[in-house]
Amino acid sequence: MSDLKELIRAEALRLGFDACGFARAEVVDAEAQLWYDSWIATGRNHCMDYASRYSDVRSDPRLLLHGARTVISLALGYFPAVLQDRDSPQFSFYAYGRDYHEVLRERLKALAAFITGLNECGCRICVDTAPIREKYWAQRAGIGFVGRNNLLILPGRGSFFFLGEIVTSLPLDPDEPCRLTCGNCRRCEIFCPGKALSGGVALDAARCLSCQLIENRSEALPEWVGKCAGKRVYGCDVCQRWCPHNALATPSLVEHFAISPELQHITAQAIAKMTDEQFRKIFRHSAVRRLKLAGLQRNLRAISQNL
Ligand code: SF4
Ligand code: SF4
Repeated sequence: MSDLKELIRAEALRLGFDACGFARAEVVDAEAQLWYDSWIATGRNHCMDYASRYSDVRSDPRLLLHGARTVISLALGYFPAVLQDRDSPQFSFYAYGRDYHEVLRERLKALAAFITGLNECGCRICVDTAPIREKYWAQRAGIGFVGRNNLLILPGRGSFFFLGEIVTSLPLDPDEPCRLTCGNCRRCEIFCPGKALSGGVALDAARCLSCQLIENRSEALPEWVGKCAGKRVYGCDVCQRWCPHNALATPSLVEHFAISPELQHITAQAIAKMTDEQFRKIFRHSAVRRLKLAGLQRNLRAISQNL
């Protein structure tokens, strides 16, 4: 099955994925399970409610597909070539272009069609659409390791990557898991504006600007968010920007992830006065649309003293 595996990997790279790895579909190992359970039990998932649902499936990807044998993990880079104006309210890099769910799904579907064309088998595509421990499987499949900032790091290539998976009934030889770690580095912990990575356990989502600015659906944000967020109005990339693995990040070749001129030069005034129609026009294909205009303007009010 290793020839088949290399054919699939080659096709994944031809489709534009930056990395592709293979892991045996089985129960998540005890150490990783314990870590995750204690993260949920201590409430550090905060407004990421979804993380506590479907724990049975999350701990065993074989429940996602009858006869599942392999998890194929895929990464697609989104590091931007062109950044927003420095004075603009800042959006996280991942939200610069088209919603990654749409872009990734198209490519995963193409790869799944290629796999089923090679050999009769079942395939299930996951792009935040199924409860699967994607960083764990990416590490198991050898494409990177989970850093202290709670993100998957591709050694020497950084963390600005979207992840997706194909769970398949095709039995394929697993790749060697990635065994690298952050070592003694603590940069992300030190520079995190909300101190969300302190405590040595796992991300404290309640203290994470990204979670607050994207996932929090309350009418007003906690006061500390405005004090820590600087010009950030949607998401936060601080723990990625400080990570030494991102020093050599290369811009994504995916045109869909490039920033639009409207977002590149957006101003606080434009967001404050934005109509629903303008919001829909600018963010029609963007992940930002899920926050809605009212949420974006709430964030703007929270950081207004910093602009
Ligand atoms: S996204 Fe920002 S607030 Fe959240 S952990 Fe990273 S640096 Fe901290
Ligand atoms: S900044 Fe350092 S500690 Fe944080 S994820 Fe990167 S390598 Fe790991």
